[in-house]
Amino acid sequence: MELEILGAHNCESLDSKLVSLLIDQTIAIDAGGLTSSLSLSAQQRIKAILITHHHFDHIRDLATFGMNAYMSGPINVYALDSVLGVISTHLLNEVLYPDFRQKPLPEKPSLKFCPLEPNKEVIIEGYRVLPLPVHHNVPAIGYQVTSPDEKSIFYTGDTGSGCASCWEVVSPQLLITEVTVPNRFEFVVQASGHLSPRLLKQELLDFKRIKGYLPPVVIVHMSPHIEGEIREEVAQVAEELEAKITLGREGMKFVL
Ligand SMILES: [Zn+2]
Ligand SMILES: [Zn+2]
Repeated sequence: MELEILGAHNCESLDSKLVSLLIDQTIAIDAGGLTSSLSLSAQQRIKAILITHHHFDHIRDLATFGMNAYMSGPINVYALDSVLGVISTHLLNEVLYPDFRQKPLPEKPSLKFCPLEPNKEVIIEGYRVLPLPVHHNVPAIGYQVTSPDEKSIFYTGDTGSGCASCWEVVSPQLLITEVTVPNRFEFVVQASGHLSPRLLKQELLDFKRIKGYLPPVVIVHMSPHIEGEIREEVAQVAEELEAKITLGREGMKFVL
């Protein structure tokens, strides 16, 4: 399994793209920086897009992807029913942009919406996909994705503290999670459901206690303005836990 980090941040600039991951060039998770990171031919290889929650930084490129897939759809978009509802009502609503579930033709649209139930595994393009609820300020799920040859990742998406219920269930070889701010801004993110390096450390301690191991960890969703501070504090956590923790970067690839 190859995992590519297309976007690793929560703010966009020339140097940072919004969160988006790509598995084996086929399955995308979150669509913050999806189209802006890939050529049209690379976009045409994508067969499915999994969305963690409805915040704009995770769904934005569904609009541009829908337009790019105008002739090559339908591409399946998986998310909680409520998340698909928000996207239909507020983004692909025929006001802001076309309803790509019906266009260009109702029988051959760009996008097909596929609702997921939390905690219920489904097979997508031959991969086992398990959506698990996480703690954010809107309904949100993380995804464990397992390839046909049993390589497995878990991506939490945006989450605050309290991932232990996920750790009970998943057994990934690579864990992708988030740190949005350094410790001094922890008070800002506690209400909105994000992690600081200090909160990350607690989650990873829980993982190790529950599972008896800790896989390599990749961090995304950093605020680029204060990434240097996040990097130093995450390095400290890695040292204290004797863990391998990497800050994600646009274009970074991991092979399992
Ligand atoms: Zn969010
Ligand atoms: Zn976000």
